[in-house]
Amino acid sequence: MAVQKRFIAGAICPRCAAMDRIRAWEQNGVRYRDCVNCDFFEQLPIENDAQPELETRVNRDREEQRQQDFQPVRILDPKGR
Ligand SMILES: [Zn+2]
Repeated sequence: MAVQKRFIAGAICPRCAAMDRIRAWEQNGVRYRDCVNCDFFEQLPIENDAQPELETRVNRDREEQRQQDFQPVRILDPKGR
């Protein structure tokens, strides 16, 4: 069974920050990613096929925005705990 590994255009490695060095492939219902530039490797179960691509890009941008928004909130809200 041949597994096709494809480079993800524009993907940036979360470990070494190299662009276009992430490969992705699927095997036995699992989606794998690795980086040819460093040791980065991850595997994600493919269960709900409707969501995966939305989660990667959209949520990553939102998380960055949230972190920027949350920093001043933490400082202004010491009573929270
Ligand atoms: Zn890397």
